[in-house]
Amino acid sequence: MPSFYEKFGIRKVINARGPATVLGSSRVRAPVRQDIEEALGLSMEMWELQAKASEAISRLTGAEAGCVVGCSAAGIAIAAAASLTGDDMARIKELPTIKGAKNKVVIQKGHIIGVGDAPIHQVIRMTGAEVVEIGEALDCAVYQLEASLTPDVAAAVYVTYLFGDRFPPNLLSLETFIRICKQKQVPVIVDAAYGTEYRGLIAKGADLVVYSAQKWLGGATGGMICGRRDLVYACYLQENGIGRPMKVGKEGIVGVLSAIDSWLKRDSAGLLRQQTALAEQFKALMTQLPGISAEIRRAAHSPSLVLDMIVSPEAAGITAWEINLGLGQGDPVIKADDYAVRHERLTFDFTFLEPDDIAVIVERISALIEQGKLQPGNPALSQPAEPLTRMDAMFENYKKWRTRT
Ligand SMILES: *Cc1c(COP(=O)(O)O)cnc(C)c1O
Repeated sequence: MPSFYEKFGIRKVINARGPATVLGSSRVRAPVRQDIEEALGLSMEMWELQAKASEAISRLTGAEAGCVVGCSAAGIAIAAAASLTGDDMARIKELPTIKGAKNKVVIQKGHIIGVGDAPIHQVIRMTGAEVVEIGEALDCAVYQLEASLTPDVAAAVYVTYLFGDRFPPNLLSLETFIRICKQKQVPVIVDAAYGTEYRGLIAKGADLVVYSAQKWLGGATGGMICGRRDLVYACYLQENGIGRPMKVGKEGIVGVLSAIDSWLKRDSAGLLRQQTALAEQFKALMTQLPGISAEIRRAAHSPSLVLDMIVSPEAAGITAWEINLGLGQGDPVIKADDYAVRHERLTFDFTFLEPDDIAVIVERISALIEQGKLQPGNPALSQPAEPLTRMDAMFENYKKWRTRT
């Protein structure tokens, strides 16, 4: 029997990056897949399924209510829409024309990130809202937030957990942000798509929190919105308006129900022990290579253990950029977190790695180092004279669709 990859003519990916959307998000585990498979062959009332999902999301997060949407980016748009319309169905059906008195959404400039690959301010503007950016790229002050919260502000958005702890340290804390917004009675929407701290954000007083169902939680493609019951209801109703093209199917909702069940029952200490054993083995093999050192650490906001591989280009005869490119070009494709590749660092996440993958990755790195030694400045691997940014490199990936290479 051909493998899945052979049947459909695509390359296998060894995923040391984690639940990245571009790699198909999470690898859904067997019990969740079984529930989804069964649901796909059946009919059901979607409001009833969403009501059950609301109960499950409440169990996970401690929020009053929750609903399932198409993805986390959809969750941001829908939460913003809900803050503009409430449960007024006539207003819901008019967006992106806003019939209410409030039409602005406030966000710190340092939180203007890509939600996946789309800019968050674009996703908010889809609702018709005007985005008001406060502060500067690296800084924001209390007086700037206070001054921005005028009577026409419908909501304020706060982003957390993107790449763990890599946000600029001098933006407003969530606690301060929530305290000031509460004084002005402006609801706070938190984007926590990359996080797994499912209870803390609601406990801190966020009005709506968006989580991913397809990242660490391990569901099918989907996002979850949880929070105040009236606002979550207004989110659910957006399916009658601009939420329609972002709607979730029964497989996404059943995926959330089943994945929450698995999450609440999982043996996190046991999983961490398994990951630790794998990481130690990986580190021992990897550090035999010339110019390669490694550090194992807990990821800041995920349930994972990660290994940072640090390259000394003089000793290795090759840069982290070249290794990363070589890992991504072969069959199987090998993907690590390359956010810090310019600092000679690649980060390997163990959540989706199988024991057999370790040797394949180390062999590939070893071969790349050999190749680099034989052909210094190997043009197939080397960095262009004007280095691409991460976003340009992502665009290069999309372009491959046309040439299929
Ligand atoms: C991944 C991510 C998103 C987008 O998630 P999708 O479910 O792919 O839409 C949004 N915000 C943050 C912080 C993320 O990490």
